[in-house]
Amino acid sequence: MSLGHHFGVVISRMPHMTYVRTVLASKDCRFLCSACYANCWGVQRRHGETVWLCSRCTDLKDNGLEPGPRLFNTQPSRQLRVGEQLRSPKGVWTVTSSERVKTPEDGIPQEACMYVLTRDNGHKEEWRGRDMADFHLIPNAFEHITGERCAELGSALTAAGLLWEDNGRQDTPRRLKYTATYPRGRQWSIRPVPPLDFDPWQPSNLWRAVCAAPRDQSPVMTARALADYIRELPA
Ligand SMILES: [Zn+2]
Repeated sequence: MSLGHHFGVVISRMPHMTYVRTVLASKDCRFLCSACYANCWGVQRRHGETVWLCSRCTDLKDNGLEPGPRLFNTQPSRQLRVGEQLRSPKGVWTVTSSERVKTPEDGIPQEACMYVLTRDNGHKEEWRGRDMADFHLIPNAFEHITGERCAELGSALTAAGLLWEDNGRQDTPRRLKYTATYPRGRQWSIRPVPPLDFDPWQPSNLWRAVCAAPRDQSPVMTARALADYIRELPA
């Protein structure tokens, strides 16, 4: 369907999703996500929904999370525990002390959480909990890798026509490894993304593939995107 000289719109209807994207789009031809208001080249609408969402918001919704703008404050509402790790734009930090203190503020006593954080290079800083908007808690286990996620990867690899096997360690995702090959293609090892690299704002981006020869590494991707990535790279 052509809507003018500079761009056209492709509408794809799938059983559970309608997807719209622009082709040959000019700079000012973008869609707007109704949840996070990001400009994007494509928006999606789930079956039974009335709103059009960007792919990140669709992913959040698919994972039972609330779609919306990316917030930087990902602190849990509870007090942080000693030994927990956080990521900030400046690096990875470990909580080395965690205290609840009473601080007078405008003469009124307030309860606050005070933390000492130690960066991976040994540098220490003291922070008050509510000022830590740029710190993001790193989950300390592979909780993001579930049996359902493994099944999803398996069916994506099969659907893409790849030959694959796993090492049977679904019970210990840290040791989980898949091997996948496209006929006459390269052999790839696929592993779950470790907690440090897991982005809670892109909850389906869980897998990374590594190829030994030629040495290559994929970005962290969703199961389906990764299967396509492996299939499309030449041998
Ligand atoms: Zn969005």
